[in-house]
Amino acid sequence: MGKMDHSQAIVLFSGGQDSAVCLAWALSRFPYVETVGFDYGQRHKVELEVRQGFLASLKEAFPQWRERIKEDHLLDLGVLSDIGETALTEERAFAMGEDGLPTTFVPGRNLLFLTLAGSLSYRRGCRQIVTGVCETDFSGYPDCRDDTIKSLQVSMNLGMATNFVLHTPLMWLTKGETWGLARELGGETLVDLIVEETHTCYLGDREHRHDWGYGCGTCPACELRAQGWEAYQSSVQR
Ligand code: ZN
Repeated sequence: MGKMDHSQAIVLFSGGQDSAVCLAWALSRFPYVETVGFDYGQRHKVELEVRQGFLASLKEAFPQWRERIKEDHLLDLGVLSDIGETALTEERAFAMGEDGLPTTFVPGRNLLFLTLAGSLSYRRGCRQIVTGVCETDFSGYPDCRDDTIKSLQVSMNLGMATNFVLHTPLMWLTKGETWGLARELGGETLVDLIVEETHTCYLGDREHRHDWGYGCGTCPACELRAQGWEAYQSSVQR
């Protein structure tokens, strides 16, 4: 690794609503921003497919960000679907499991994502790592908790002898407030882009278009996105 650059950020960008807002947040703060996504054998490839479209549209709609959006990386984490037994990678029902966590929970997924993002950041000389994990409107994922991320930052910095900063701009925001943050960062243009070009639905549905974007409208991810949109709508005069 060369000297670590304080102005370089890497954003964990899945193609979903939250990580898209994080990307705009990083662009509002750091001169150069790279992105990383993970292919972990998702039930559908939609999130991965929309990533490139969103990046291209973002560059087009925001010329001031165009030159500052740097390399996009896609890392293969197929090992997660080898371990299996989750509704995100298999045809399983979305429900609460016996452990009290949703069947969409992939144990340790965010720990792996962040650790790998750290390995990549080390190689790229990036110090700032940005992730859209969130403890509010919490889907019950323990690896999204603030304490988990803070302890992981310490572990990564000890284990790699670095001083990464893990940024979690959405940690205490509701889904409605996340839409509000998007508006703050990029106005209606960014909000519209996130509605149209990001994907959240667990089932990969791009056929049904709602006010809040595409999705089946009934899976837990769609329900959260729809509720957040409704809260956002009632909080702003558009
Ligand atoms: Zn859905």
